[in-house]
Amino acid sequence: MKMISLLGSTGSIGVNALDVVRRNPDRFAVAAMTAGSNVELFAQQVKEFKPSLISVFNSSKLEELKELLKGEDVEILTGEEGTVNVATHSDISLVVSAIVGSAGLAPSMAAIKSGKDLAIANKETLVVAGELVLREAKGKVNIIPIDSEHSAILQALNGEKEERIKKIILTGSGGPFRTFTKEKMENVTVKEALNHPNWSMGAKITIDSATMMNKGLEWIEAKWLFGLDTCIEIIVHPQSIIHSMIEFVDTSIMAQLGMPDMRVPIAYALTYPDRIECDFPSLDLAEMKQLTFEEPDYEKFPCIKLAQEALETGQTMPAVLNAANEVAVQAFLDEAIPFKDIAETIRTTMHNHKCHAIDSLEDVQIADQWAREEAKKRITVAH
Ligand code: NAD
Ligand code: MG
Repeated sequence: MKMISLLGSTGSIGVNALDVVRRNPDRFAVAAMTAGSNVELFAQQVKEFKPSLISVFNSSKLEELKELLKGEDVEILTGEEGTVNVATHSDISLVVSAIVGSAGLAPSMAAIKSGKDLAIANKETLVVAGELVLREAKGKVNIIPIDSEHSAILQALNGEKEERIKKIILTGSGGPFRTFTKEKMENVTVKEALNHPNWSMGAKITIDSATMMNKGLEWIEAKWLFGLDTCIEIIVHPQSIIHSMIEFVDTSIMAQLGMPDMRVPIAYALTYPDRIECDFPSLDLAEMKQLTFEEPDYEKFPCIKLAQEALETGQTMPAVLNAANEVAVQAFLDEAIPFKDIAETIRTTMHNHKCHAIDSLEDVQIADQWAREEAKKRITVAH
C-alpha cells in the first residue's frame, strides 16, 4: 500500500488523482491532503478517502470546513504551514503536487527535504526554482513528472541514458487560437480562451495554453528534468494524441501516444517505474485517421520565446517570468486586461528586472514578490 499526500485535491489534477486512487483501493491510500478554498468538494473528498490530516489554504474557510466535517476523525490545519505539514506527513512516501502556481514551491521543497518522492504536476515549481529543487532531490528522492509531455518523455526514454538523446520533440495542441489570425486574436474573450479544444483543465493552465506560455513553461520544465544541454524542439500537434517524443542519436524516434486523459500520466507517476492495469478509454487509431503536425507561430505566440529567453538569462529571470504571467493571466481572467497584454506585461516586467543569483527559497520568493508588484503596477498604469 502506497501512502500518499495530495496537494490541491479540489483542482482538475487533484480530482483526477483521486479517481486513480479510487480505482485502486488496494494499492494507494491518501493519508493527507490540502485544498485552496472549495470546502464543499474538499469535505466530500475527506469523507470518501479518510485522510488523517488535511489543510485548507484559505483560513477564512476553516470554520466552515470544520462544520462540514463534524464527527470525522481528521486533524484540520490551515495556511501555508498547514500545506507544509501535509506535504511532510510522517505516514507518507509520495507527495502529489497539484497546486497551481509558484505557491507550490515551498511545500514541494519541504516534501523533498523530508525524503518524500515527488509526483509533480505543478510545473511552476520547476520553472521558478528548477536548479534548487533538483539539487535538493539529487540522490535522495525521485521527482516524477505528471505533465503529460514530460511523462511521455520519461516513458519514451525508458531507462536509456540521457546522453543518447539527440533532441526532445515537445508536442502541444496549439490551443484554441491556433488557426486565428493575429488581428482576430486581439479581441478574444475570456470565454473563448477558456475553451480548450482537447483538455479540460484549471483556468490558469487553460489560459497558458491559449497564449502557448504553457509550452514555454514546459520547455523550461523539460530542460530541468532531462538536462539543460538537451535540444528541445516544439511542434504543434492539434490532436494531442502524441504526448511528446525523443529522437535518439541514431535518429530513431520514440513517441508515447494515448487519449488526452491526465489519469494516465498520474497513474504512471504513482507506480513509476512500474505500470498498472487501467480501464480508461483506449485510443482508436482507425477512428483518429490523421495525426498532423505544424511549426509553432512564434510571432502570434510571443510567450514561448519569452520563456526561452528567461531560461537563457537564468538566475531569477524564470521566477520573474512566471510571477508576471500568473498576475497577467489573473488580470485577463478578471477582464482587467486584453489577451495581448498578457505577453506585454511579462515582457515589460522581465525588461525592468535586475537579475540576481538563486541560492535559497527566499531568493526565489523575493524575485517572485518583486515581479508580482511590478506586473500589477504595469497593469494599473496601462489601464
Ligand atoms: P486547478 O486550478 O484546477 O487546481 C489547483 C488546486 O490547487 C486547487 O485544489 C486549489 O484549491 C489549490 N490551490 C491553489 N492555490 C493554492 C495555495 N496557495 N495553497 C494550496 N492550495 C492551493 O489547477 P489544475 O489544472 O489542476 O493544475 C494544477 C497544476 O498542474 C498546475 O501547475 C498546472 O500547470 C499543472 N498541470 C495541469 C494539467 C491539467 O490537466 N489540469 C496538466 C498538466 C499540468
Ligand atoms: Mg502539459
